[in-house]
Amino acid sequence: MAQKASELLQPRAEIGFDPDNWDDFAETAHRAVDDMVQYLSTVGDRPAWQPIPASTRHQFKTAVPERGIGLNQAYEQALEHVLPYPTGNIHPRFWSWVGGTGTPHGIVADLMISTMNAAGLGFDEAATTYVELQLLDWLKAMFAWPGEASGLLVSGGSMANLVGLAVARNSQTNFDVRQQGLTHPGAACLRFYASSETHSSVRKALELLGLGSNALALINTKADYSIDCRALRRRIDSDKASGLTPIAVIANAGTVNTGAIDPLNDIADLCDEQGLWMHVDGAFGAMAYLSEIAHAQVAGLERADSLAFDLHKWMYQQYDMGCVLIRDQARHAGTFNMTPDYLKKMSTGLASGPTDFSAYGVQLSRSARALRAWLTIKSEGLGKFRQLIDQNILQARYLTQRIVASPRLELAAPTVLNIVNFRYRSHGDLADIEAVNRHILDQLHQRGIATPSSTVLNDQFCIRVAICNHRSRRQDFDALIDAVLAIGAEMQPSS
Ligand SMILES: *Cc1c(COP(=O)(O)O)cnc(C)c1O
Repeated sequence: MAQKASELLQPRAEIGFDPDNWDDFAETAHRAVDDMVQYLSTVGDRPAWQPIPASTRHQFKTAVPERGIGLNQAYEQALEHVLPYPTGNIHPRFWSWVGGTGTPHGIVADLMISTMNAAGLGFDEAATTYVELQLLDWLKAMFAWPGEASGLLVSGGSMANLVGLAVARNSQTNFDVRQQGLTHPGAACLRFYASSETHSSVRKALELLGLGSNALALINTKADYSIDCRALRRRIDSDKASGLTPIAVIANAGTVNTGAIDPLNDIADLCDEQGLWMHVDGAFGAMAYLSEIAHAQVAGLERADSLAFDLHKWMYQQYDMGCVLIRDQARHAGTFNMTPDYLKKMSTGLASGPTDFSAYGVQLSRSARALRAWLTIKSEGLGKFRQLIDQNILQARYLTQRIVASPRLELAAPTVLNIVNFRYRSHGDLADIEAVNRHILDQLHQRGIATPSSTVLNDQFCIRVAICNHRSRRQDFDALIDAVLAIGAEMQPSS
């Protein structure tokens, strides 16, 4: 033993991850920048999607190496096996789910973010803290929220919904949830209200908050997929009459299926009158607030108690970045603050930063992701975002017109913002129509033409085009229509 201990004290050559030769590293890094610029600038020339070959799949099954192959070789492998098979949301004809495109500015920011590798704590007296606070101020101003409201950058809309609903739960109950948990007898009576079109992350949040999905009352929608406010009011009244405790209404500014917008001002009035918390899920649709064309449709979101939205969807930022705003800063901190000794602030020095982001959410260590949006907004100005959001809305309207004008196509839902749902009309029963449309969607992907996704509306399958893409142009939508019609025609029995 004694011998071992003395061995440990022998001087050893000490190591780190930094290169022996920074010039070699610079060469690789410069090459990577050139390769990425080449890759991004030619993205539209490549297929919108392509399958991953077996040889590449195999690469991801090999055991963890004890000895590395060096950065250059590992980089070569990534070039060969990773880069050709992306999700493809940087492609001009990517319209799946609500995927955002990212910006070239974000690439530059990411280089800085990774190099500085800031811990994003908020009590670190570091410029990145002030970048994040300024971005939050800009986002509040963008949505006409008061400057004294609080907010937090989070991974995305799911986390933003969780944080907002946690504050709603803790603020609206007459017992101390933080201390007692949900052991209080009143806990089983808490109710949250949202339309049946509400995103699954809301239900997940309520489940994680210990409320159970039974606490979520789903209200029917009208023909335009927005919540039926009268049904909402009736449900709140009847729940109250049967001894339940309404807590919050979750209003949609842009549902994920169709982009439907709940009547935000009516819901705000109802919440004022009933003393309920108003949470708005504006994951992508909140951005319509910036639009000239669609601003009025989302007016009222400035009245919410909490607002969840994504920067990585319709604000075109790289993953992952979402945001939650909470009107009442004290309630926000009252839900999450907790300061162990080792995190105590100092009055000067590194630990004297202006805030503590962990007092407003779940994460302690966080990336300095704010710099990405900060750099893009500073470079381009908010006006550019306004134009792009309008451009996407106009593209959705253009696509809608082309669908309506084609006898072989039908619109599956009204186009509200930037989401278009449609079907190829084939002969036969519903099962045939579904099979034809599934095949068309599959072929659009397999042939690398375009990547819409799908959904089910009124029990019927449809092709869904969600446009959060600053690279799409009108001719991309023409290409989509042409391909859908051609693939559909291939399937029809020749008469
Ligand atoms: C995408 C989306 C979410 C979830 O956001 P993530 O960023 O994917 O976590 C929540 N609500 C709506 C309406 C969405 O479109």
